[in-house]
Amino acid sequence: KLEEGKTVRNVVTLSKPPRPIIPTRKAKATFMMLVRNEDLYGALRTVQQIEDRFNYRYEYPYVFLNDKPFSGHFKEKMRKMSKAEMVFAQIPHEHWSYPAWISQKKAAETRERMKNVIYGSSESYRHMCRFQSGFVAQHEALLAFDYFWRIEPDVKYSCDVDFDPFLYMHDNNKKYAFTISLYEYSETIRGLWNATKIFMERNPQFIARNNALSLISDDKGGTYNNCHFWSNFEIVDARWMRSEAFQAYFDHLDHQGGFFYERWGDAPVHTIAAVLLLPINQIHFFREIGYYHEPFHNCPAEPHLQLKCHCDPELNANLERFTCTSKFLDLAGEERIVFPEEVDD
Ligand code: GDP
Ligand code: MN
Repeated sequence: KLEEGKTVRNVVTLSKPPRPIIPTRKAKATFMMLVRNEDLYGALRTVQQIEDRFNYRYEYPYVFLNDKPFSGHFKEKMRKMSKAEMVFAQIPHEHWSYPAWISQKKAAETRERMKNVIYGSSESYRHMCRFQSGFVAQHEALLAFDYFWRIEPDVKYSCDVDFDPFLYMHDNNKKYAFTISLYEYSETIRGLWNATKIFMERNPQFIARNNALSLISDDKGGTYNNCHFWSNFEIVDARWMRSEAFQAYFDHLDHQGGFFYERWGDAPVHTIAAVLLLPINQIHFFREIGYYHEPFHNCPAEPHLQLKCHCDPELNANLERFTCTSKFLDLAGEERIVFPEEVDD
């Protein structure tokens, strides 16, 4: 049996060390998860990590979105994960259905034709991509916020986040942030670049000076090289996503039909929008946020960024050839990720 004093000492030793900074400022920001009722347990696992790694100090709210009504069970279980405010909202029908100009017959033929492509035969995946591409920031539940941090069921946050990424974006005028970049399956976006070129020709006023076109095109805009920020993690300035330029681009793509006649993903759409509509210095790579979504990791390689991480920095996807993160860092004039073997002890 422990004596009273000892118990206290043990408690002190075992609890998390107190953080040096008690947050005094907050951004107008929220987490956002699009999720189905049946993904409750994966969603709980994600939220618990967000809480433990970051949000128990900040108490940023959560917005959960669903194309169907959330069950009472989902809300009840989720509310136990955090003291932060949680909003559970349904997506309006017109943001998760076929617009009038789309032929559902042609859409069905496309799903048949694309059976061998990942999610190629899925109808709901296409509605999901279209919603995330252009409608999410307009959802009523997000209108009060300047920033949202997208989270998904069953992702992993592998390091403590001991700063406020929302405030970082606010203070540094960043509008789009990522942790992993990849090259997209070209079969899913055959016509996306042509559609984009038409937009650029018609709307030169929206194209940013100092944009990073050479990140996503190796021939000065002739073709898309498929480089994209992996949007299952993203921190976005929602005001930018609601802006005239962004909405004009999304609306143009939507009328081109590729969300249904191909399988355009929200990752290439957000990436192309960010690259063309923003100067490169408004796009940010959060190298210090340890993040895993099956099957890729961003694991901080630099030892000074290793804040209680459980990931292996050697497995950092951003060090691989199938990513365009180094190219982004070069273009942005930022330091490349230092390979673990090059780090001095
Ligand atoms: P992947 O990462 O491309 O394999 O796609 P996911 O299955 O992870 O879906 C991306 C995001 O959309 C996740 O947050 C899912 O929970 C969500 N999602 C996908 N399909 C649906 C759907 O039909 N309904 C709802 N409510 N959420 C969905
Ligand atoms: Mn996912």
